Amino acid sequence: MKTVVIQDGTLLTPTGWVEGGYVAVRGDSIVAIGSELPGDLLPDEVVSAKHCAVIPGLLNGHTHLSQTFMRGLAGGRTLLAWLKERIWPIQNAMTPEILYLAATLGLLENLRCGVTHVVNHHKITATPQHTDMVMKAAQETGLNFTLARSWADIGSNAESPDAIWEDMKRLYTEWHGKGNIRIADGPLTPWRCSMESLRKMHALSLDCGSFTHIHVAETQEEVHMSLRDCGCHPIAWLKQIGVLDASTQIVHAVWVGDMEIEMLASAGATVVHCPVSNAVLASGIAPLSSLRSRHIPVRLGTDGPASGDMQDLWEVIKSALLFSRASMLDAMAIAPGEALDLGLSTTGLQVGDVATLTVVDLNHCRAMPVYDVGSALALCTHGCDVRSVMVNGKFLIRDGQVLFLDEPALLQECRQAAQHLRKLAGF
Ligand SMILES: [Zn+2]
Repeated sequence: MKTVVIQDGTLLTPTGWVEGGYVAVRGDSIVAIGSELPGDLLPDEVVSAKHCAVIPGLLNGHTHLSQTFMRGLAGGRTLLAWLKERIWPIQNAMTPEILYLAATLGLLENLRCGVTHVVNHHKITATPQHTDMVMKAAQETGLNFTLARSWADIGSNAESPDAIWEDMKRLYTEWHGKGNIRIADGPLTPWRCSMESLRKMHALSLDCGSFTHIHVAETQEEVHMSLRDCGCHPIAWLKQIGVLDASTQIVHAVWVGDMEIEMLASAGATVVHCPVSNAVLASGIAPLSSLRSRHIPVRLGTDGPASGDMQDLWEVIKSALLFSRASMLDAMAIAPGEALDLGLSTTGLQVGDVATLTVVDLNHCRAMPVYDVGSALALCTHGCDVRSVMVNGKFLIRDGQVLFLDEPALLQECRQAAQHLRKLAGF
């Protein structure tokens, strides 16, 4: 089995940074790591990471890959108007073939930004072929991929509870745990999903060792609707009906107060924070400091490109820091290294772990001089600074080159397909 050594980089380990260190990878695992390469470790291949940080891959905790072909369509609309006038018509027009290209492009964008695990809240479920084409894209790119199958059984484009149940069971049977792919339950929002179906799909996700991933309290309007219709905040309602627990991921949590934060903490639920998308749609700023002070696990997400435009998690890491400090009027609210940690898939590289890592170039004018690597990464880095990405021991991007597809050809195909999609949607 070939041994690859990445050397001379600044490595992030669970106990801190190691300057001028090396990581040795054999098969799909990290077999050695440290500051000086042992004499008896004879590499088959050496990759220089001089002036680079070598960190665990990033995790994009929430996106909608289908929206890769919907960038720039928000046009000053509020969330509900944006959905009704732009997103739903174009979603309805999407064919499986166009969706495949949108997903491939979105996954490539994530990888190019150093993301090695994407959680895709998958909304285009018109036919099983639509979903399977997204899986095909994920298999071909090779990164770690969770498809949270979105559903709604109330309101426009609602599916029947039986149809949702059958498709969820099919996805768990056919795809869950197959290679790099995982399946999760992805109810759209509490106000579009019935209590019975929420309970049933959540129980199925638990049976399959998975989780529930749901948009909650993104806008103030949504909370007001819940107070009117259910008599309580949507977080309280999820708790009442038994779907708020340690396997629940709450996406957004912008409009939550102390009571809801307490419910999230005692349930052990995770929050996925999407500060850029929340700002684009003027939804508000999630109370990151309060969530962190109650030790609620927080992940970061770009959200779909229709609201976040780019899927550059570096922008999200920096925004999480900026918005938290600005909203708290406190420059100590969160340190750069803490903001970086929110975006990482693990706490650091260590022996025995699967070799999934990102090499980030810090030898550029935006980062120079690098006094503090965490600060340079959290505040001075863009996706274009990512030099190499390895997933499960295999380079998918190396020295800026994509190794698994012809990128210029993909861009050309996507340009044509997106024009065709706009015509189909009647724009
Ligand atoms: Zn979303």
